[in-house]
Amino acid sequence: MTKIIDTNQLWQSVLTELELQVSRANFLTWLKNSRLIKKDDDGKVIIGLVNNFAKEWVENKYHKMILEAFHSLDETIKKIDYIVLEGEKKSFEIKTEKKENIATRQTSLPEFKIDPETNLHPRYIFDSFVVGSSNELAYAATSAIVKNVGKKYNPLFIYGGTGLGKTHLIQAAGNEIKSFYKNKIKVKYVPSEKFVNDVVWAIRNKRMDDIKEKYRKVDVLIIDDIQFVGGKERSEEEFFHTFNVLYENNKQIIISSDRPPAAIPTLEERLRSRFEGGMIADITYPDYEMRLAIIKTKLQEKEANLNNEICGLVANKVQRNIREIEGILNKIIFYQEIKKIELTNKIVEEIIDNIIQQSSKNITHNQVIKAVSDFYEITPNELFNRSRKKGIVEPRQITAFLLRDLLDMSYSDIGEKLGKRDHTTAIYAYEKISHEINKNQNLNQKIIMIKEIINKN
Ligand code: ADP
Ligand code: MG
Repeated sequence: MTKIIDTNQLWQSVLTELELQVSRANFLTWLKNSRLIKKDDDGKVIIGLVNNFAKEWVENKYHKMILEAFHSLDETIKKIDYIVLEGEKKSFEIKTEKKENIATRQTSLPEFKIDPETNLHPRYIFDSFVVGSSNELAYAATSAIVKNVGKKYNPLFIYGGTGLGKTHLIQAAGNEIKSFYKNKIKVKYVPSEKFVNDVVWAIRNKRMDDIKEKYRKVDVLIIDDIQFVGGKERSEEEFFHTFNVLYENNKQIIISSDRPPAAIPTLEERLRSRFEGGMIADITYPDYEMRLAIIKTKLQEKEANLNNEICGLVANKVQRNIREIEGILNKIIFYQEIKKIELTNKIVEEIIDNIIQQSSKNITHNQVIKAVSDFYEITPNELFNRSRKKGIVEPRQITAFLLRDLLDMSYSDIGEKLGKRDHTTAIYAYEKISHEINKNQNLNQKIIMIKEIINKN
């Protein structure tokens, strides 16, 4: 074996080897700008990596591979240490420290988790909800309920396209009621599929009374995405009864849907006319001013800064989905803060186009599953099976998140696709990732990369 003297050359040879073994996206992110810092006579090498994420990732996933590659080139190498490259490290650590403080401060307060009693997420409040012409009526109706629970608009039916703020608004009502009445009024939020599944479970186990009892104790029932209810006859029947029981007991019901009651084909007539007997308000697309206001609000929440020109650019280009605006901001912030790329208009436009393109593409669930498994270098089967191995939980949750985020798939379908899991697992996974992504750059980065893999295929 010939000994390679030049350490730089040695590392390049190792990289060439690694490039063959890890996926392209992973290689580019974690390994590309790495360096061999030092090689001791006693067989130790020190590898410098671009940031903490890279260090953690490479140590956990590629160490063995790297050691073997070294060994095949230079038998004397026995030990590898990984460090974060200076310069990168400094500014990066200041940032993460700041971020981490915020994160721990937030999570240490109990109100920053989903409340198991109500299922409400404390992040959704009226204060962070921007009101404009597109959601004025929906906002007015929802906020009027707070002081007139069960009396004024019942049921209240809010509808509008994906990512326009329905969940935010109806959960904000729940949170406001909760704090206004100091918990004396019981609120419960359920995605409609959870409600239906509770009902189906009860029918199967002859426990309908339990369900009625459970929901009867609630004063305000918030049912999200009701369009998923229709079709399953027996459960719809029971749903209607439960609904009626609540309604007749003057319980407040708040419903959201992606379309008006008349446009849900599978909805039973009786249910539809009940909904139409209450208050119906829609949310439409926000105008430019409102989009800009939303961008500013989101940046404040994320404690990030972007100049006015970039904000304007985003507001201009993303017109139909506020969730998409958030996704774009997350990506821009990531480029700015972590990759330290100077943001030109051109780069920002590319980021936006990329995300918009993605949402108009017909992505299949198989593409999502394949991208996640490629990224984590596991097999699709490992995603589906029952293993609770630490390394598998995250990819599985990310898959659930992406299936919902990119394909708008129902929770039951997501559960089904992920190895016949319960829909609540899918709900939990989606909720967890969608909240975490806003405060965890590491996770944000992984999701951005996985989306890039999906985009390329
Ligand atoms: P939907 O339930 O209609 O699909 P969401 O309520 O989940 O939409 O909203 C998607 C994202 O956009 C959320 O992060 C939410 O906070 C944000 N959002 C939507 N509308 C507004 C608004 N008017 N002001 C502030 N944020 C908003
Ligand atoms: Mg929603």
